[in-house]
Amino acid sequence: MIFEDTFKKFLEIKELFKGLVKDHKKVEELFKILEKPQREIKVYLPLERENGEIEIFEGYRVQYNNFLGPYKGGIRYFPEVNEDEIKTLAFLMTIKCALINLPLGGAKGGIKVDPKKLSEKEIENLSREYVRKIYDFIGPNKDIPAPDINTNAKIMDWMVDEYLKISNSKDIKLKATFTGKSIENDGSEGRESAAAKGGEIILERFVEKMNLQKPLTVAIQGFGNVGYNLAKFLYQKGYKLVALSDSKGGIYSKEGFNPELVMECKKGKGMIAGCYCVGSVCDIRLGRDISNEELLELDVDILVPAALENVVNEKNADKIKAKIILEMANNPLTEEADEILNKKGVIIIPDILANSGGVIVSYFEMIQNLNNEKWNKEKVFEELEKYLSKAFDEVWQIKGKLNVDLRKVAFIVALKRLYEKYKMK
Ligand code: NAD
Repeated sequence: MIFEDTFKKFLEIKELFKGLVKDHKKVEELFKILEKPQREIKVYLPLERENGEIEIFEGYRVQYNNFLGPYKGGIRYFPEVNEDEIKTLAFLMTIKCALINLPLGGAKGGIKVDPKKLSEKEIENLSREYVRKIYDFIGPNKDIPAPDINTNAKIMDWMVDEYLKISNSKDIKLKATFTGKSIENDGSEGRESAAAKGGEIILERFVEKMNLQKPLTVAIQGFGNVGYNLAKFLYQKGYKLVALSDSKGGIYSKEGFNPELVMECKKGKGMIAGCYCVGSVCDIRLGRDISNEELLELDVDILVPAALENVVNEKNADKIKAKIILEMANNPLTEEADEILNKKGVIIIPDILANSGGVIVSYFEMIQNLNNEKWNKEKVFEELEKYLSKAFDEVWQIKGKLNVDLRKVAFIVALKRLYEKYKMK
């Protein structure tokens, strides 16, 4: 992922934005400021492996911008993690929080590691070491990390435990330093499926506005936290899930899969390939295996990249046949792909809107910790719907006025909030 690419997309709205506000000098200043993060932290994490050897891992935390509130953003464990990727994602978090109108800034973190090659104890020790290294820079009023790719509630629980140990405190408010914790450890109901729930809410609003008729066909790349939960929600709403995939490959059936049965099968086999579960049965005659590349190029109504970034790029953008792309992964399209697809008339529902359910419920978790409250899942999803509907309506209204693509509109809504705040500084 290239930061310049993403920022270029953002720069494209500068002149448009100037047409909407008075103080052009402040706009120029703001763009200059937003081109750089406020802080980039790089840490080296020694880990004693089970064979007794010490291995050093690289970790990052980029605190991009805090004009609107404390930094917020996930931590990912991935072998290809690098500074440029984390910086890009931290920038997108800044824009996302502003778009959704959360009193939060943007950050992102990561460790360059393949967690599949570590034992559970090694992952725990590495996670605790990461907290020790970034301790001074995080806290409920400074920076609040959360889970992302290959990190989960268990890891957040270890991290918050380490944070409390160093703080020498049992104050529940300090638990708001991390979100995405387990329910038993003051996490929020609904956090696990929040990003997917948000995707469903946004897609449903879009389908309603465009007056599209169901069943609409859907292909989802990625069957993890986001992809699987979204598949479940969309299945319940009458969408036809014709293709699903994980890192080892995918499956296709024109009948549409039942995601819960597919997940049961995947758990048994360790992969999604071969899990042809339609209705209430799994049978070899009901589907076929496809590659991840094929999945992206299927002739479907809605394509959902829900795995990695840059999966649609200049090599395959021309071959995409979907009419709508719901970006559940962060930054799944390169700048070139975005341009090609927009020209082709594909409607792209941008990541900063589509997958923002995760950070919204993270914010609810912070509120619950800080006020010593516990909300049930109904309340969490009700509040989530309020935030997302407001953001969607705002985007839709401006789209009607400006007639530019949804990503640019989302950038404008976010920028307006950052601009108002910056003007007051
Ligand atoms: P996850 O680790 O739970 O799942 C990732 C899935 O992608 C797995 O099924 C994995 O097998 C699959 N995958 C990995 N490499 C692949 C490849 N090359 N081709 C196809 N599939 C591949 O992660 P997640 O939490 O579901 O996150 C997925 C995406 O959504 C990421 O981009 C993440 O940043 C974004 N996101 C997550 C949240 C959240 O709350 N979890 C919120 C917002 C955005």
